[in-house]
Amino acid sequence: MSLELDRRLADVGTRFRIFPQPRFLQKADGSGPLFAEPEQVIVSVEPAAMRPGPGDDRMFVIDAIGKMPYNNFFRPPYRGAARPPVQPGGDGHFDHLDPASREFSAATMYATVRRVLDIWEDYFGRTIQWHFESDFDRLELIPLIEWNNAQSGYGFLEFGFGRSPNGTTDHTRPFCENFDVLAHELGHSIIFAEVGVPASPLDEGIDYGGMHESAGDLVAIVASLHFHSVVDHLLEATKGNLLTVNGLDRVGELSDSREIRVALNPLRMSDVGDEPHDRSLPLTGAVFDTMVEVFQHDLVAKKLITDDLRVRSTNLPGSVHDLTEIQAQFTSSYTGNEAAFKESLLRARDYLGRLLAVTWSDISPDFLTYHGMLRAILRADREITGGDNAQIIRECFAWREIAPVPTSMLLRPRTLTSCGLAAAERAPAPHGRGHAIPSPRSDGSALPAGRS
Ligand SMILES: [Zn+2]
Repeated sequence: MSLELDRRLADVGTRFRIFPQPRFLQKADGSGPLFAEPEQVIVSVEPAAMRPGPGDDRMFVIDAIGKMPYNNFFRPPYRGAARPPVQPGGDGHFDHLDPASREFSAATMYATVRRVLDIWEDYFGRTIQWHFESDFDRLELIPLIEWNNAQSGYGFLEFGFGRSPNGTTDHTRPFCENFDVLAHELGHSIIFAEVGVPASPLDEGIDYGGMHESAGDLVAIVASLHFHSVVDHLLEATKGNLLTVNGLDRVGELSDSREIRVALNPLRMSDVGDEPHDRSLPLTGAVFDTMVEVFQHDLVAKKLITDDLRVRSTNLPGSVHDLTEIQAQFTSSYTGNEAAFKESLLRARDYLGRLLAVTWSDISPDFLTYHGMLRAILRADREITGGDNAQIIRECFAWREIAPVPTSMLLRPRTLTSCGLAAAERAPAPHGRGHAIPSPRSDGSALPAGRS
């Protein structure tokens, strides 16, 4: 979401507080939680338009009592017993709730999903209509059922609690407060709504499955880069050196965050198989690398780093000494220029969000391949920037080994012979106009190219 829209929403939307990352993530020195305080977020819905739950015209929370998880025979809408809806404060906002209360967890679930939807609808430039609109108009959000699992399904998200090491339900870890998990699940809904599903039973959907998981992670990563605390922490820990391979050791405590681990993964296609989560990693890495390269090009344009440093801090293998030297140069460039680095990163984030929205609007789910995704991303870049970032995209995807499969017809050379055109050179079109019909030699063979 653009900074301008974010500022506009601050004047009209409804205030909530949510934790950018789970409360159980600890500082490396053990001195306490990494994100001790919830951060204010403002959803696009005005206080006057809020409905009980909290809810609005797109989604609502229902805090079910004694509910079993949904299954194939038990589906929304939920009609059983429920706790009373969470009430706003006297000013119509929800930022008064005590983080230790059940109401806080319920409101967090609404605010997280609503905020992520706001962010992505801005990148799409329109309303994202639910894929279940033929049955329901609103997404049902069930925050705290007695279950050590969570699921998203047709018309609902329902969340329980994490497990303790001995396998019992850990009530201190409600999944509904995990921003990354909720955002990832909403990402799947966005893909169902905007891309759809393969139509043919002959379509194994291997790259489709990887694309889906990658999209869930990218939706979450881009959304989490809307928390000032996350962006500040990321930049402070890395001094702007976000090159992804071996990047995890530079992000410090944030490396405990699943989405950060996913974004900074070093895997290529030859490292992964067909399992969708594994297969998603090179694609997610290629897309995140693209954002990092766009960020670094912007730093060069602003003369905040040298082009030489940008070139050396790519994904190419470097010695340990190089990495230390590169980090030292980033640290000296970043120091004193923190705000400018942050502005560049947020611009790169918004480019990436828009790039993905245009791409997902464009691709077909049928027989989808990563190479087809790459071409859709290049088309999206042409639409957004006129193709400015095409070479960055090519290089980031090539490093991940995302290319036409070796058996692709795209890679098969066609000779004049195979096109039946070899004889054309002997029979130029009359008056120099095109479309001469080749006249094959009597023995059926064609002349080699370049001879007549
Ligand atoms: Zn997933």
